[in-house]
Amino acid sequence: MDICPDSKSSCFLFTVYFVSEKKGCLFWGVVYCGFMKKGEFFPPCKECGGRCCKYVAIETDKPASKTDYDNIRWYLLHENISVFIDHNSRWYIEFRTPCLEQLEDNKCGNHIDRPRICAGHGNTEGECEFYDSPYREYFSSEKEFIAYLDKRGIDWRFSRRKK
Ligand code: SF4
Ligand code: SF4
Repeated sequence: MDICPDSKSSCFLFTVYFVSEKKGCLFWGVVYCGFMKKGEFFPPCKECGGRCCKYVAIETDKPASKTDYDNIRWYLLHENISVFIDHNSRWYIEFRTPCLEQLEDNKCGNHIDRPRICAGHGNTEGECEFYDSPYREYFSSEKEFIAYLDKRGIDWRFSRRKK
């Protein structure tokens, strides 16, 4: 989540910092820029619309019992809740809710003091969801989850109560 500043401006600012603060160390600013261009990945946050700031995902245990399946059904019966499995077979509950710090232009309103999870996100190409979907399976409704279980022949139903 390198929403702001982008790579070019941070490179520029870093160079300005060296020139102004270190009195003439333009050399190190240029070295820094060269290093950044060569070795680091910068996500295209301006084009993306800030999608990684619009949800929270909490890892949960892989469901293994009827109670676990039932709980996931319950999560999915709520508005703006999804469940997904990532490419490492880990299960997550996703809350589709934008961060309160996200500005209208999708930049971060608290870039300097943003949580560490934000600062560490999207720093490699494989991690940024602009390029790759983090989802191996994605359930946005209870129906989709039941279809997934039924397709795999998973016995998820409790016996119905007698009236
Ligand atoms: S998903 Fe990637 S490109 Fe989009 S805002 Fe997040 S880090 Fe930037
Ligand atoms: S604090 Fe909010 S807006 Fe800023 S980077 Fe993190 S999730 Fe995005």
